[in-house]
Amino acid sequence: MNTATNIETTFKGILINKDEQGYRAELQDINENVLPEGDVTIKVLYSTLNYKDGLAITGKSPVVRHFPLVPGIDLVGVVEHSDSADFNVGDLVINNGFGVGEKHSGGLAQKARMKSEWLIPLPTAFTPKQAMIIGTAGYTAMLCVMALQKNGVTPNKGEILVTGANGGVGSFAITILSKLGYTVVASTGRLDESPYLKALGASEVIHRDTLSSPGKPLAKERWAGVIDSVGSHTLANACASTKYGGTVAACGLAQGMDFPASVAPFILRGITLAGIDSVMRPIEDRKEAWQRLSDILEPSVFDDIAQEINLEQVVEAATKLLDGEIRGRVVVNVQGE
Ligand code: NDP
Repeated sequence: MNTATNIETTFKGILINKDEQGYRAELQDINENVLPEGDVTIKVLYSTLNYKDGLAITGKSPVVRHFPLVPGIDLVGVVEHSDSADFNVGDLVINNGFGVGEKHSGGLAQKARMKSEWLIPLPTAFTPKQAMIIGTAGYTAMLCVMALQKNGVTPNKGEILVTGANGGVGSFAITILSKLGYTVVASTGRLDESPYLKALGASEVIHRDTLSSPGKPLAKERWAGVIDSVGSHTLANACASTKYGGTVAACGLAQGMDFPASVAPFILRGITLAGIDSVMRPIEDRKEAWQRLSDILEPSVFDDIAQEINLEQVVEAATKLLDGEIRGRVVVNVQGE
């Protein structure tokens, strides 16, 4: 009888531990009592690999705040148990962020438990898999586009620079902007991926080396807007070459967390630097972003951007992601069905 109970209360997932044996992320049979408190229990269908998941799984940065912890900052699944009036058993829900996969066990396991206020219903426009192809990367790209729009960057204002173009945020930023009629210039370290970037909607592809070294406080004005997932000198140079009154949406640090810039573009050209955080973003903004994604994205884009893996392949794929060897998005079929 005990054995039967154990079988019923374990599930497969990636578990990160840190102890005298070191830092390690392993696929394991996880006992349900490892799950944190929450009013909704979810059978996870799909998760994803984001840059932050790569950092958590490899231990390259201190993303994980306590151990043991299931990584995965994104999930979509079916509600199995609910003490919340907002969700019923059988509902399809998604989660992006709110510290999930960092402080609270996340989506890279077959079961998750979390607070109902961190969940939104799966938008009807998307299948569970499509929602995870979008995931935090696509939702963050949408938040960046919304920041440009809020600051008056319309398609007629000129070119938009997207850095980290082959990454998840970059790929979705290009797709969304081009669907909205913007002219997009993609910056990448992988020029051999230009056909992919042009298929997503980039009109020009430039090498990231043109932006990644220390530059001047002000450069020739070129960009009406920028979506930057790279940080460091790239962000500084992007600001320096943004046109008068333009806006730079900064969301990432793939090159570095530093920002070696001057105030010149801000005080002489009146540019705006819009910081984008997806993790603690209020629920209403999330719903708006997902609604906008539902309106803009066509199903055909998902096959181009994503590759599917299962839980067994997650740890290896996390290293590849941080090494810049993955294009677009990785979606994880958590149930392996
Ligand atoms: P990916 O790993 O999918 O993409 C990152 C891309 O950045 C790579 O594909 C590569 O593009 C480029 N890149 C990698 N290393 C360097 C480097 N040394 N110098 C310049 N460019 C580099 O990550 P995501 O798209 O998921 O995330 C991108 C960034 O955005 C990360 O820093 C992540 O933490 C951040 N992020 C922040 C969020 C927020 O809430 N603020 C939410 C989501 C992501 P290419 O090969 O084309 O050059």
